[in-house]
Amino acid sequence: MNDDAVITSPANQTIKDIRALEMRKRRKETGLFMAEGLRTIIEGMELGAQMQNVVYLTTLSARPDIRRVRDYCLSCGGRPLEVTQAVLEKLSHKDNPQSVIGVFKQNFKTLADVKPGKCWVVLEEVRDPGNLGTIMRTIDGVGADGVILVGNCCDPYSVEAVRATMGSLFCVPIVTATQDEFIAWSKTWPGLIVGTTLQDSVDYRTVEYKQPLLLVMGNEQAGLTEPLRKACHSIVRLPMNGRADSLNLSIATGIMLYKMLED
Ligand code: SAM
Repeated sequence: MNDDAVITSPANQTIKDIRALEMRKRRKETGLFMAEGLRTIIEGMELGAQMQNVVYLTTLSARPDIRRVRDYCLSCGGRPLEVTQAVLEKLSHKDNPQSVIGVFKQNFKTLADVKPGKCWVVLEEVRDPGNLGTIMRTIDGVGADGVILVGNCCDPYSVEAVRATMGSLFCVPIVTATQDEFIAWSKTWPGLIVGTTLQDSVDYRTVEYKQPLLLVMGNEQAGLTEPLRKACHSIVRLPMNGRADSLNLSIATGIMLYKMLED
């Protein structure tokens, strides 16, 4: 097949394979994920992410930014795909149509890759991809080190999570661990481990946040489990002064990070 031929059929097998990356099972099998939009794709390119495909509208093929991305894809050993509007519509979400879509290799790390720095954010069983993506964007914004996903978390490479990161997923290291692995590893952490819950906790303004830090956040419904609570040296709360009984997970993480890193 001529790689430069414009793909006009949504039934094309490569297009179907890319579309299937919407499913977690398929992402797991292939180790790939989809990122939408030129800005995010350029971010991935500039940070050296491995690009498998770039899919772009044939009418854009002469644009210098598209040519740059296309050349980068080829330099990664990937395959650029020039397509018609009908094909792109098959890949794009109706609520968020894009004229460029990238397919990249996932980059999960392990606890052995974690180097103590300023602050790593530990998320126990985070379930909402919007929360996870927003937290990764905040980690990037505040200048924290990365995220450690403990237990059965949602996929940081889902379309929703990737979208919520606004490109930050390419520069925020993502570590995964089971609860047992994390608890054993936390015993070797050289700095302070700070957990967050409303019960049996102290006001977050009363703690001295000496780096390197681990900030441990709980699940949206169940909060922090007892084993993770026990792994923490300090447990803090953000005071709830009205009728709401807790804050949204990503908001609570953002407030904690800005406080911990300003001290
Ligand atoms: N019902 C859960 C509980 O009782 O923990 C609420 C979970 S909350 C929506 C999700 C996570 O956000 C919590 O586990 C905690 O890490 C953090 N969080 C939310 N509000 C907080 C607050 N006011 N103080 C400390 N942490 C908070």
